[in-house]
Amino acid sequence: MMGTIYLLHFEPAYKHAQHYLGYTERDVEDRLQDHQHGNGARLTQVASGAGVKLWVVRTWDNKTRDDERRLKNHNHEPRLCPICNPDGWERRGVL
Ligand SMILES: [Zn+2]
Repeated sequence: MMGTIYLLHFEPAYKHAQHYLGYTERDVEDRLQDHQHGNGARLTQVASGAGVKLWVVRTWDNKTRDDERRLKNHNHEPRLCPICNPDGWERRGVL
């Protein structure tokens, strides 16, 4: 089963967190709605509850959960984010 990996950018940052990397086999916009309504990960639930705006800033299509895990292990969310790293993100070929 293939899905989409997506990167959420938090505005403003919630405590020390400014990103959430997720994976869905459904529509990313639907998944974003889940996050915004507190039905996603714990982190996005508390951030959203605190009034933080969640933006989908990047997606990777035709990926698997293993790809998501691999990307998460890199722990490079700020570098992958076009808002936090406008100059370098396109050149980063992590996946
Ligand atoms: Zn960012």
